Amino acid sequence: MLRAATWDAVVVGGGPAGSAFALELARHGRRVALLERTHRAQHKVCGEFLSRETVELLSYLNIDVDKLGASSIDQFRLTTGSRRAEVPLPFRARALSRLRMDEALLAAAAQRGVHVARGARVSGVESIGSDGAATTEGIKWRGGVVGLATGKHSLRGLTRPMGAMVGFKMHLEAVNAARLLANTVQLAFFDGGYAGACLVEEGVLSMGWVMRSNMLSEVGAAWNQQAEFLARQSPIVAEFLEGATPLFEKPVSTAGIPYGFLRSEPIAPMIYPLGDQLAVVPSFTGDGLAIALASGVAAARAVVASVPASRFQRTMVRKLRLQFRLAGALGALLETSALSGVTVSAARLLPSVARQMIRATRLRGMGDFGRPIASALGVQQSEAIE
Ligand SMILES: Cc1cc2nc3c(=O)[nH]c(=O)nc-3n(C[C@H](O)[C@H](O)[C@H](O)COP(=O)(O)OP(=O)(O)OC[C@H]3O[C@@H](n4cnc5c(N)ncnc54)[C@H](O)[C@@H]3O)c2cc1C
Repeated sequence: MLRAATWDAVVVGGGPAGSAFALELARHGRRVALLERTHRAQHKVCGEFLSRETVELLSYLNIDVDKLGASSIDQFRLTTGSRRAEVPLPFRARALSRLRMDEALLAAAAQRGVHVARGARVSGVESIGSDGAATTEGIKWRGGVVGLATGKHSLRGLTRPMGAMVGFKMHLEAVNAARLLANTVQLAFFDGGYAGACLVEEGVLSMGWVMRSNMLSEVGAAWNQQAEFLARQSPIVAEFLEGATPLFEKPVSTAGIPYGFLRSEPIAPMIYPLGDQLAVVPSFTGDGLAIALASGVAAARAVVASVPASRFQRTMVRKLRLQFRLAGALGALLETSALSGVTVSAARLLPSVARQMIRATRLRGMGDFGRPIASALGVQQSEAIE
């Protein structure tokens, strides 16, 4: 028999989207339960680059990334093969491990009065009359609204199209990286994918990379096979991997990433899809975290203003569509050998491609704490959490 627990809001998933939703609702006095399947902090697939919008949104949620040890980034290096271009970022970014960031958000939520349940794996969400509910082993968590924030993992009945890409992350102790990646985020494109690299807290090298899943049988999934492959694609990657010590037994990975996915179909009036369950932007934009946080905050404000999930989704999807189109086109350009060949042969074009990449893929309407989204939804702005 299922026990029942009733809340104003039930949040499924304790990544940045779920935590932001919970925090913003709690500050409006709502009773919130957040259900996170992991028992303790874990490493997650991510490049761990924090754009200016991400840093601003975290600071709005009372998370000071500098206090958490984030490194500072103001340069962008783009490479294809042995060609490279370096351009200044038009803003100061940071890099911080997801392990540290996600745990800080969950701790802030708990401190704010959110009931954070760890080891709570949700098997499904449903609507019951005008309420929503999420089911974990033995408990039905009933809430006036449900935030669906399971990120890369889809719940039964709420699947997204399977993408062709697989993503990985590894942390390394790498002596060469301190010199080659100081204040720099690096993106190395190759035929069928790309690798991002930056230094996170304590000078650890964080590498996140994606490739077409059909390349895996040839490359192999083990770290040494992946490292050899990545080093062959890019001399600078080879340089900072030389003599580097991996800090995980194997890379963390995720398959079938549905890049470009935008959930415009409503699930139910009280079920709000957030973060990667709402929109999956190509990883190289470094904006996934900002979308996750901004969607969490904006959805909470929509709930407070009684705006149904369908209208929230429509507004978000409309705001994101152009950025998604541009990012998709740029990614396709750089990931295919023929076209990256064009950029390689016209090396002088690379800096302008790099600049264009920063400009064209920047998040629209998410910065400034989602102010444009809030006004499109007709909901009030609120001040930073005290
Ligand atoms: C290779 C790669 C590199 C990237 N690099 C960057 C980058 O550098 N910068 C950037 O801004 N973005 C980057 N992104 C995007 C970013 O990682 C995501 O957009 C972001 O993590 C989405 O946040 P989320 O909260 O929606 O989901 P997630 O971060 O995936 O969190 C979901 C949470 O839900 C929990 N969960 C899942 N299923 C259940 C369940 N059934 N019950 C309970 N809990 C559950 C999970 O354990 C997890 O804690 C990258 C993505 C990839 C794939």
